[in-house]
Amino acid sequence: MFIARTVCREEETPIPQPGRNEVQIRVQSVGICGSDVHYFVHGKIGRFVVNAPMILGHESSGVVSALGDGVTSLKVGDRVAIEPGVPCRMCSFCKGGRYNLCPDIVFCATPPVDGSLRRFYCHAADFCYKLPDHVTLDEGALLEPLAVGVYACRRGGVQLGSNVLVLGSGPIGLLSLLSAKAMGAAQIIVTDLDQGRLDMALNLGAHHALRVDTRDPEEMARRVEEALGCKPDVSVECSGAAPSVQTGIYATKSGGALVLVGRGPYSMDLPIVNAAVREVDIRGVFRYANCYPLALEMIASGKVDAKPLITHHFPLEKTLDAFETSRTGAGGAIKVMIHCDQ
Ligand code: NAD
Ligand code: ZN
Repeated sequence: MFIARTVCREEETPIPQPGRNEVQIRVQSVGICGSDVHYFVHGKIGRFVVNAPMILGHESSGVVSALGDGVTSLKVGDRVAIEPGVPCRMCSFCKGGRYNLCPDIVFCATPPVDGSLRRFYCHAADFCYKLPDHVTLDEGALLEPLAVGVYACRRGGVQLGSNVLVLGSGPIGLLSLLSAKAMGAAQIIVTDLDQGRLDMALNLGAHHALRVDTRDPEEMARRVEEALGCKPDVSVECSGAAPSVQTGIYATKSGGALVLVGRGPYSMDLPIVNAAVREVDIRGVFRYANCYPLALEMIASGKVDAKPLITHHFPLEKTLDAFETSRTGAGGAIKVMIHCDQ
């Protein structure tokens, strides 16, 4: 178990018991996300501040160990992926299907809500997805960031034949790449500062990879067009860096879409008139809604192989080492997985 903000420790806590419509899960795999590392290092992300000890972890899978009253969809022993955000199910956003925008959503490891980096954890049964036997628990944990990639591509309107630009090739960019590929993108071009990440993107099926070695976004946009032979229909920004968002605007085809997945400075200088006069739609992305089923189907059908992203494994007792590896990117770390039941 892991407590954020300067003091980090393992702690014994009572085993939680499932409430109505909840299941208790013996947690197995937990991937470390950039946000976990951010809370770990800085104790806050924007308006979310860790004011009291908090358990981290929200990219999780496990085995159902007990059922609360009313649960009929799962049974003890089922292997499940856990969708970490449980919305109110009552508001207009929930009713409209955009439950990621629910103001009352309870999301694991977003303060003050505890996460799932622990041995036992309880969660709403309808936000747990039973894994087929051939899908591993590590893949189950990867469904969370994969759902972000699926949602980003949906928001951008990626479809059969699309030309797609993915800016930033961290785990989220790489999973956006895999999603775009599975959705039928014709050509995908990726960017990053780091050649190792670009190499990974090429291994995962990117058609072109551009290393960012200039801060001139118009020059980068020109290189994108030259490599693709056209401007991309959809750009998926996954770094949050201002020059990269600027490149995304200049690069995107007139009438296309730029989706903002990356989180950088709260406010940035952007060539907004360029977007306006060319009708480049700029769309936000906040987590995902209704994307776990498709993410699971992509993995289960073999259309997406996300396993190469997992570069490191640690047992729960070595959580500090796992966070340090994720934070520093040591050894080419991309996705670091913690195993809670070893
Ligand atoms: P990451 O830090 O591992 O990856 C970011 C990548 O961008 C790195 O490889 C970095 O080298 C690259 N980069 C930095 N500056 C760049 C530039 N100018 N041009 C091109 N590439 C550049 O992070 P991640 O886990 O892959 O997450 C990506 C972003 O998505 C983060 O900002 C994260 O906060 C955000 N995120 C958003 C959501 C959402 O719901 N919108 C969900 C998860 C993550
Ligand atoms: Zn709601």
